[in-house]
Amino acid sequence: MRRNQQLAFIAVLLFITSCASNKIVDKPIVFNEERIALTKEYMAERYGINQPGIAIVPKMIVLHWTAIPTFAGSFDAFNDPKIPNWRTIVENVSGLNVSSHFLVARDGTIYRLMPETMMGRHVIGLNHCAIGIENVGGTEETPLTEAQLKANIWLVNYLSKKYKIDYLIGHYEYPLFEGHELWLEKDPGYRTEKTDPGEDFMEKVRNATNKFNFKPLPQ
Ligand SMILES: [Zn+2]
Repeated sequence: MRRNQQLAFIAVLLFITSCASNKIVDKPIVFNEERIALTKEYMAERYGINQPGIAIVPKMIVLHWTAIPTFAGSFDAFNDPKIPNWRTIVENVSGLNVSSHFLVARDGTIYRLMPETMMGRHVIGLNHCAIGIENVGGTEETPLTEAQLKANIWLVNYLSKKYKIDYLIGHYEYPLFEGHELWLEKDPGYRTEKTDPGEDFMEKVRNATNKFNFKPLPQ
């Protein structure tokens, strides 16, 4: 190849690789001083973690559905730093609103709502090491879509190449970690029952990502 042909070839390659990461659209929720302060408070009170910032070392990916049929409604549920009044159980425990690192739209578009290595609030006991992926839907009328399944598989690949991920779990599986070395929630009365994102969805994502050899769930 002549030099300019080589350069053109390299340009095309660079374009293709940059497209791979362009799959993620940044659409940040409010991440201000208040959210950071509430997150630090949550870390200290619930987990006994006292550190200068709210950085986490990701070891786990937790898949969810929002049980809200629309993208706008799902985004709004996470946007405010302070928890709104309608979730009383969660509110009594901490004023920090729930959040997730990613939100996958019904058409499979992947939105990143917050930095991957800052602590979100999406799974009791394990937020200090878990990256959350939420999917819009999960109501009876809005089962998760094929496009969302593909997007979740892509995201698990992306995250597992970037971080040392030991566990891939569905939200409904989190109680299995009680007593595990990663479990840090101090209040034995603070538990919620979850079914998201469904056993069928988890099985499909697991089958498509088994090359990563995630650790088996505690029994
Ligand atoms: Zn969930």
